[in-house]
Amino acid sequence: MTDSLKGKPVVVSLKEQMKQEILGLEAEGIQPTMGILRVGNRPDDIAYENSIIKNCDSIGMRTQVFEVDKNIHMEAFKELFHKINDDKYIHGVLLFRPLPLQLDMDVIKYLIDPQKDIDCIHPMNQQKVFEGAVDGFLPCTPEAVMEMLKYYQISLQGKNIVVINRSMVLGKPLAMMLLAAQATVTICHSKTRNLPEITSKADIVITGVGRARFFKEEYFHQDAVVIDVGINDGGNDKICGDVDDDRVHDKVKAITPVPGGVGTVTTAILLRHVLEACKKQI
Ligand code: NAP
Repeated sequence: MTDSLKGKPVVVSLKEQMKQEILGLEAEGIQPTMGILRVGNRPDDIAYENSIIKNCDSIGMRTQVFEVDKNIHMEAFKELFHKINDDKYIHGVLLFRPLPLQLDMDVIKYLIDPQKDIDCIHPMNQQKVFEGAVDGFLPCTPEAVMEMLKYYQISLQGKNIVVINRSMVLGKPLAMMLLAAQATVTICHSKTRNLPEITSKADIVITGVGRARFFKEEYFHQDAVVIDVGINDGGNDKICGDVDDDRVHDKVKAITPVPGGVGTVTTAILLRHVLEACKKQI
C-alpha cells in the first residue's frame, strides 16, 4: 500500500520542540518575536499573515506587524527596515513579496540584517546554501522538503533524486541540500527533453512546476517516493499539487498530499528560523 507522507505529524513534532524551547526562553525573560513587514493590504497577504500569526500564537511566539502604504517611497522603506533591524526585541523578519515596483528587490535584499533573515533573502545567506555552510538560514520550502524526508526516514545517501524546478526559492537550493546529504541529483526544467524517461528512473522525484495535476503515472517508477511541492488552483475552489494524485497515488511507494503536505511544514520551518535567530542573538 502506498504511504501518504502527511505534513501534519511533522508539524506537530516541530511545534512541540519549539514550544518547549520557547517556555525555557520565557523563563529567562526572552520572548522570541517575528517581525512581519507588509506593504499594502492585498487579501492574500492578509490571509497569509493571519495564518502565520495563528501559528506563532500556538507555540507562544510573539509577532509584530509593520504595515506600510503600498505607495511608500524607497527611502522611507529603507528607514523602516533599518529601524526593524536595530530593534533588539525582533529576532526575525518576514518580508511579504512581491513588492510594488518602486521598491527595488535588488536593493532591498541587501537591507535585511542577515541574522534576522528568516526567509533567506540576503545574498550572503543564499551563498551559504551553495557553500554548504551550516550557520546561515536556508530557504524555508526546500528545508521543509528535507524535514519531511528526515521525519519519514527516507534515506538519501546514494539515491537518484530528480528535482523538477530550478528556481532560487526551491530547485537550486534544494539540489545543494540533497547533494550535501550524499544523493545524486538531477535538476530538470521546462526545456528538459524526455522528462518521463528521466523521472521514471529516479528513487525520489520532487516536483515544483506550478502546473495542476501535470504528472501522471508514466513519470514514476513503482518504488518511487514522490514529493509534490506544487500548490495550484485545482478548480472548484480546491487546491491541488503538480501530481495527478488520482492516477498516481496507488502506483508509487509513497507520496505527499496537496494540500496537507510540504506546504504545512514550510510555515513551521519559518517559525523555527525565528527561534534559531533569537537564540543566536541572545
Ligand atoms: P517558478 O519560479 O515558476 O518555477 C517553476 C519551475 O518549474 C521552473 O524551473 C520551470 O522551468 C519548471 N517548469 C515549468 N513547467 C515545466 C514543465 N512543463 N516541465 C518541466 N519543468 C517545468 O515557481 P516557484 O516559485 O519555484 O514555485 C513552484 C511551485 O511550488 C508553485 O506551484 C508554487 O505554488 C509552489 N510553492 C510551494 C511552496 C510550499 O511551501 N509548498 C512554496 C513555494 C512555492 P524553467 O526554469 O525552464 O521556467
